[in-house]
Parts: sequence; structure tokens; C-alpha cells
Amino acid sequence: MKKLIIANWKMNPLKGTEAAKIFKSINTAAIKLKNVETVVCPPLVYMQSLGQMVTSRNCVVGSQDAFWEHVGAFTGQVSADMIFNARGRYVIVGHSERRALGETDELVNKKMTSILQFPLIPVLCVGEKTRDDDSNYIKLVKQQVKNGLAGLSAEQISRVVVAYEPIWAIGVQARRVCTPPECREMVLAIRQALADVLPSSNDASKIPLLYGGSADSKNAAEFLNEGLVQGLLVGRASLDPKEFVAMLKIAEKVSG
Ligand code: PEP
Repeated sequence: MKKLIIANWKMNPLKGTEAAKIFKSINTAAIKLKNVETVVCPPLVYMQSLGQMVTSRNCVVGSQDAFWEHVGAFTGQVSADMIFNARGRYVIVGHSERRALGETDELVNKKMTSILQFPLIPVLCVGEKTRDDDSNYIKLVKQQVKNGLAGLSAEQISRVVVAYEPIWAIGVQARRVCTPPECREMVLAIRQALADVLPSSNDASKIPLLYGGSADSKNAAEFLNEGLVQGLLVGRASLDPKEFVAMLKIAEKVSG
């Protein structure tokens, strides 16, 4: 399985010219890699123009969200089919920064259902706010996975990517970085949750799992090797092309 490295640019950068510059640097390096698929999820206003710069299936663009209705009177929303038509190939769903604005598991599930009607790959984000001594955080994350996938067929679930992003490890306010053993423990729990909703644990083992939360070129190899993940969802470090390309090259080496 190729490693999957996804850039989440969040609400950055401020100008389209800057977005094009960063994307160009990333794309130039990413298209040369054999064992890594790179996805850049910029703010939607830039996605289509960056999508026009795509030269290989090795490096594509995606969206940070999608609304569950297809077309109509939904001010401010953008649908999954519009994203596909605008060259998006992946959609991040249920990111913790959107959940913090009120997005519930139920809404996440509606988005997943809609996205999977198109040749798009949803990246279902799950993760706990804090950890407790009784391991309730593991149950919570497993439940987030199951709620996000509720009502989907095995064929649909087989097209999903799950990103484990402990909220306490994300962004500048991160308390600390997650350790690879902590990541591994959750990866195994998520695989169990997937096995519960799929016909077999063999099917569950094929779903790519990503880690996200202060990932950078210093810890990328650890997560990919010891964290048992097949890729990374990268925030801050993905806006620095040198740093992000260094991560892509690490992923290439790990899989080679
Ligand atoms: C994220 O918010 O998805 C993320 C992983 O951010 P960062 O890498 O900046 O912690």
C-alpha cells in the first residue's frame, strides 16, 4: 500500500498566488515519488485553480469539507459533486476544528454518505479531546468511527480513509505530541471498530489509517514505522514546502 500524505492548509494562505507557489513546489517533488500519494487540501477558493495544475495522480487536490445536499438553496455550502467537478478527489470530513463549531457525528455521517455517491475519497477525522485513566477515550473514538460510517455499505466503507487526530496534539496550542505507542494503541482500536462494521477483519486491515497532530519531518518516520499508520494528515508543516517535501521523502523511504 502506498503511503498517503495529506496537507490540510486550513484557512491559509491569504492569497491565491501564494497558494499556487506552495502547491507548485510540493507538486514538483511529489510527482517523482513512487510509493507516496500526496493530497493538498487548500481553502476551497483555491482548489479548482490548483486542481488545474495537477499533472499526475500521485499529487491531487481535495477539500476540507463538503455539504450533504447536492444542489439548491443552501447559502454558503459546497456539495460533494461540485467538489468532484472542480477536480477535488479527497474530502476531509469531521475535522476537530469543524466539530468544535458544532458538527456532530450525525452531520459527519450525512456528509460521508453524500461524498461516497461520487468517485471521491472521504477522510473521516476522529480523535479525543483528552485522555482519562479508564480508557474511555478509546471507546469514544471507536464510537466516532462507527457513527461516521453508520448505514454505509461494505463497498462504500472500503473507499474510506480514517485519520486519527488526538485534539490535544493538534496545532500551536498542542499540549504535547502523541507518541508512536499511543498512536499504535488507537490504530488497533480503530481497526477493531472497522472490523465490527465490515464483513471481516481482513477487509478492515485494508482501510488506510492516518495520524494527524503536530506531525513534521522530525517525527514522521516514527509514526509511519512504529505508529502503524499508512500516512499522515499534516496541518502547519504542510504550508512550508521544504518541510512538507522532506516529510514526503521520508514517507517514500519508509515504504521503499
Ligand atoms: C490538523 O489540524 O489536522 C493538524 C494535524 O494540524 P497540525 O499538524 O498543525 O497539528
